[in-house]
Amino acid sequence: MTVQLGIPQPREEGSPGPGTSGPPQLPGRPAGRAAGLVDRYGRRATDMRLSLTDKCNLRCTYCMPAEGLEWLAKQAVMSAEEIVRIVRIGVDLLGVRELRLTGGEPLVRADLLDIIAALRQAHPDLPISMTTNGVGLDKKAAGLKAAGLTRINVSLDSLHEETFAKLTRRPFLNRVLAGVDAAWAAGLGPVKLNAVLMRGLNDAESPALLAWALGRGYELRFIEQMPLDADHGWTRRDMITAAEIRELLSADYVLSPDPRARDGAPAERFEVRHRDAGTARATGPALGTVGIIASVTEPFCSDCRRTRITAEGKIMSCLFSREEVDLLGLLREGASDGQLAERWQDAMWIKPKAHGMDHVGLDAPDFVQPDRSMSAIGG
Ligand code: SAM
Ligand code: SF4
Repeated sequence: MTVQLGIPQPREEGSPGPGTSGPPQLPGRPAGRAAGLVDRYGRRATDMRLSLTDKCNLRCTYCMPAEGLEWLAKQAVMSAEEIVRIVRIGVDLLGVRELRLTGGEPLVRADLLDIIAALRQAHPDLPISMTTNGVGLDKKAAGLKAAGLTRINVSLDSLHEETFAKLTRRPFLNRVLAGVDAAWAAGLGPVKLNAVLMRGLNDAESPALLAWALGRGYELRFIEQMPLDADHGWTRRDMITAAEIRELLSADYVLSPDPRARDGAPAERFEVRHRDAGTARATGPALGTVGIIASVTEPFCSDCRRTRITAEGKIMSCLFSREEVDLLGLLREGASDGQLAERWQDAMWIKPKAHGMDHVGLDAPDFVQPDRSMSAIGG
């Protein structure tokens, strides 16, 4: 659902501003508003996730259907200039402090390097990271670094060709592995790896995946599977919970809480040590860290600092929000930076308190999964 927000504050340049007509359908922000992207519950969004495209060259079972989705028309997707302007408004007017580029698959966007270079020129000190499936990264990593990308996250669910191909429906494991190593060699570290565990497919592989990542100095993060698949096949019964992940890893490792502050990060980090088979105690020095993103069973909504922009320029205050607020449409109508900033603030003001996924019986008939799949939101 795209929401028309009323903007109750006086307008900057005469009134009313473009695209702001119509009665408010959701509670507006009170007058005398705070600066930045704050919501009704006192949270402040400083971490921007921006989707560059809805297109992708993999078909991960937990995200896309086998036949793909109908792609957005080129005209509907934000241009490079529009992206740069929206990021500038976020950073200069609204307190955004870090940017993650995502998709769909950001590497399939032909003007990716130009976008990153322009963002870097406008914001010399902004941390700009990117989440990618890694296909083609081996050839692009050095260029991404030169353009100004700070760091990279690569999704990697399995080290076995057959399992990888089952999960992603494409036989590209070796290309992804080459991409991960190229990213590290290009200086795009610390390299973080994202893995979604699927029951009976790659869950048993989790200790081996961690061993591989630790051995190369990459930080692996396990993400609980969320009900954001286009096939609507998610069930609570089938998902691998954070508690199960910790149990699976405990066969080989002892995890202890990372003493560094979590600081709003989705991943809870643990220091990893070998487990002595006889005593079941930790042995030897810390081997590195592992992260667990327990969005479903141990949600972190109360400290969420994210604001999301989809590839067609819609603001989503939460992955599970059923409301989207059109920023790009307003921009294309000729709105000023101030008007766009206000609409963004209004959209974040109505951010839900929590996604509600932790409720028992989520896969009961009354649970309504969001319309968009993860690839169409920008994870
Ligand atoms: N295509 C890129 C990639 O796969 O890294 C970027 C976009 S993808 C939507 C971003 C992240 O979302 C990936 O790490 C992917 O594993 C994760 N993801 C996708 N669908 C998910 C789901 N249903 N539950 C949990 N994580 C999911
Ligand atoms: Fe594509 Fe990423 Fe979704 Fe996999 S998770 S289908 S790589 S967008």
